[in-house]
Amino acid sequence: MHRAAILLLVALPVASDEIPERHAAVAERILGAALAQGGAARFAEQLSDGIGPRLAGSPGDAAAVRWALDELSRLGLEARTEKVTVPVWVRGEESARIVAPVEQRLVVTALGGSVATPPDGITGDVLMVTSIEELRGIAADRVRGKIVLFNRAIAPGFAGYSASGGMRSRGPSEAARLGAVASLVRSLGTLSARLPHTGGMRYASDAPRIPAAAVAAEDADLIQRLLARDGAVRVTLRLGCETRPDAESANVIAELPGRERPEEIVLIGAHLDSWDLGTGAIDDAAGVGIVMDTLRILKSQGLVPRRTLRAVLFANEENGLRGARSYAEEHAPELPRHVVAMEADAGGGRPVGLAVEAGPGGLERLTQIAGLFPLLAAGRVPRVGLLQEDAHYFDWHHTAADTFDKIDPRALAESAAFFAIVAFALAEDPGTLPRPEPPAKPEP
Ligand code: ZN
Ligand code: ZN
Repeated sequence: MHRAAILLLVALPVASDEIPERHAAVAERILGAALAQGGAARFAEQLSDGIGPRLAGSPGDAAAVRWALDELSRLGLEARTEKVTVPVWVRGEESARIVAPVEQRLVVTALGGSVATPPDGITGDVLMVTSIEELRGIAADRVRGKIVLFNRAIAPGFAGYSASGGMRSRGPSEAARLGAVASLVRSLGTLSARLPHTGGMRYASDAPRIPAAAVAAEDADLIQRLLARDGAVRVTLRLGCETRPDAESANVIAELPGRERPEEIVLIGAHLDSWDLGTGAIDDAAGVGIVMDTLRILKSQGLVPRRTLRAVLFANEENGLRGARSYAEEHAPELPRHVVAMEADAGGGRPVGLAVEAGPGGLERLTQIAGLFPLLAAGRVPRVGLLQEDAHYFDWHHTAADTFDKIDPRALAESAAFFAIVAFALAEDPGTLPRPEPPAKPEP
């Protein structure tokens, strides 16, 4: 994106008619510092290469908390941690194969939170569906004892991902309610590289807990072809995952105190944890880099906004949202003093705009992007999500290939600049974004 386009986009969120004259000059300075110094990519590289995978409660998670605290302190900011109790889930050995009508290995990975199979695995015939709705239309006696495969390809970008996410998160319990013995989902990815994509999954309280895994797109296609040819496919799935007792992690918080209304808070957030397969570069070392570079640039440029800018690097976004929940609980009394919450969790691509929760339709669009803040939404804090180029984001998302080489430092610097400019504008703007409407009361 060109410099002029970034500066033009900046005008969008500040709808108030009082954009300070000096704001354009400030934006130029921020952009210059982001591009010249490449801070966001440097932070992202330290986190993804230097620490690596950091699933909640793991040694990497603890190392990431220490690193963030050190780096933020090194910027001359007061940084602190707030304790978060997180779930601990360990992947273990995992494998699967087709045992009939041919022997074929399948590339699978457990979904986060899944229970294990018995050591010998679970064997069953595959019942393939393309949606939860289709599954619900099938009689339970046809599902009982089966391994259900949710098999639908997704379109690129966040819209495609959001449209199919339910198959991964809710599919296992939907299948279990009808008597399935295990659940497979076609990886929610957009590249054919035979990579399985992990991700969060939630067992419903009223369904048996069955093992749940993602299968590579190519292998979902293979099962589909064999089903079409032979009418039946038998699969053995082996998962060695395990849920251990909760552990302690932390949200890492640092502030740039406001010069005029320090009690008013503009929150900028990203998540410090990652899945265990890759090194969490695009998800979400990139966002951590954007947020940390925002503070670095403003501090080094001596730009002190009217309100306090508070960075929160959240714990346990991927498999529990306990960091966001804990923040919302701990800070409930000051939620009315949060004027806006911004999030960076959309990868390392160039900035393309903002999702602003401001009116009809805004919330739907925003929740697709800003999954981290549902609890702040309940407190009706306006939210702004950074939108970035996402055509290739789901090629690598939640896979072993989410590594630092997928980040283009120049694109990430542009996103960091854009984010920093908007954050500064929102913290400086004499007015505030209107708060979202309270949810409508249901009809009696
Ligand atoms: Zn994320
Ligand atoms: Zn994620």
